[in-house]
Amino acid sequence: MEFNTICVHGSTRSYDNTGSISVPIFQTATFAHPGVGQSTGYDYSRVQNPTREYLEETIAKLEQGNGALAFSSGMAAISAVMELFSPGDHFITSDDLYGGSHRLFHHINAKNGLSFTAVNTSYTEQIKAAIRPETKAIFVETPSNPMMQVTDLKKTAELAHEHGLLLIVDNTFLTPYLQRPLTLGADIVVHSGTKYLGGHNDVLAGFAIAKDEKIIERLRFVYKNTGACLSPFDSWLLIRGLKTLPLRMDRQEQNALKIAEWLTKQDKIKQVYYTGLPEHPDYELSKQQASGFGSMISFEVDSAETAERMLNRVNLIHFAESLGGVETLITYPMLQTHAEIPAEEREAKGITDKLLRLSVGIEDANDLIADLTYALKVD
Ligand SMILES: *Cc1c(COP(=O)(O)O)cnc(C)c1O
Repeated sequence: MEFNTICVHGSTRSYDNTGSISVPIFQTATFAHPGVGQSTGYDYSRVQNPTREYLEETIAKLEQGNGALAFSSGMAAISAVMELFSPGDHFITSDDLYGGSHRLFHHINAKNGLSFTAVNTSYTEQIKAAIRPETKAIFVETPSNPMMQVTDLKKTAELAHEHGLLLIVDNTFLTPYLQRPLTLGADIVVHSGTKYLGGHNDVLAGFAIAKDEKIIERLRFVYKNTGACLSPFDSWLLIRGLKTLPLRMDRQEQNALKIAEWLTKQDKIKQVYYTGLPEHPDYELSKQQASGFGSMISFEVDSAETAERMLNRVNLIHFAESLGGVETLITYPMLQTHAEIPAEEREAKGITDKLLRLSVGIEDANDLIADLTYALKVD
């Protein structure tokens, strides 16, 4: 089955015989046993739930993995993946990461004996130079958040496997519609399903997907025993959201390209970071390893005053954290997603008081441009 069809029809399983087109929401905590020592295959909803299972099978197919687990948030999924490791293990991560992952690694996992070296993973040599005997995995986000740096997944996977490391990829920004890291050699893919996969800014969810059955089994064990599984209703919202994933992402990308081109022509905009602009340093690599550029744009304005004015004056566009939904959102990474990254480290990356991030939605691009025009204007 082709990608678009899997989004609509998902798993081929049917869970009831009423002919219901919509997947039933099995809103139950537990399941009755037919007899002693017998099970219907479902015992307790933390371990198995049919609605969640349908979603997990769909996501596994979309990412071309052999199994997927649906978590209550992206952070729950990443936390569970980190439980595969032991005190003493070392990681190499992208130096431009979602703020929550940075906090998880440095404030929670570090206290449990894991250590991290952040490098610019766009440069495979930097990753290679950071490998130590105790290194166990490479964790990348590509494109990265918010600076839109792209990591060469094939090359990084080869390097990881030469050294016996796992490659973990946060695929939230492009989704399997545009990029399938497992097919390029990654071992584990994680997602914030809250973003494009859900797509409507109405639900939190997370996923971990892998090819190797042993990794899937270990993740399932962590998931079953730490318990951050996605609820039946939230699973249903994800199943519903996924049906329109390709349509939404196509429209979002068309809008993003128009807006990125428009931004490059504005006097007060100094720099535009969008992988779909031919002047982006990773434009060619993006074309090679992904089938689209997505709809995340960061841009630098001329002053902190301009940044604040824009945030205060946008009307149609909401000033809010998060991304990937049908509504266009504007974010101030310095104050929001990346507030806890030390100022020096943040500024060295370009995450300053002049940097704004747009997650472009499905509205009419002309209305979005009109809103940005008004926001930029000095009365
Ligand atoms: C939002 C996000 C996360 C965290 O996901 P939640 O669903 O908010 O827990 C992780 N990685 C990236 C790239 C994100 O954008």
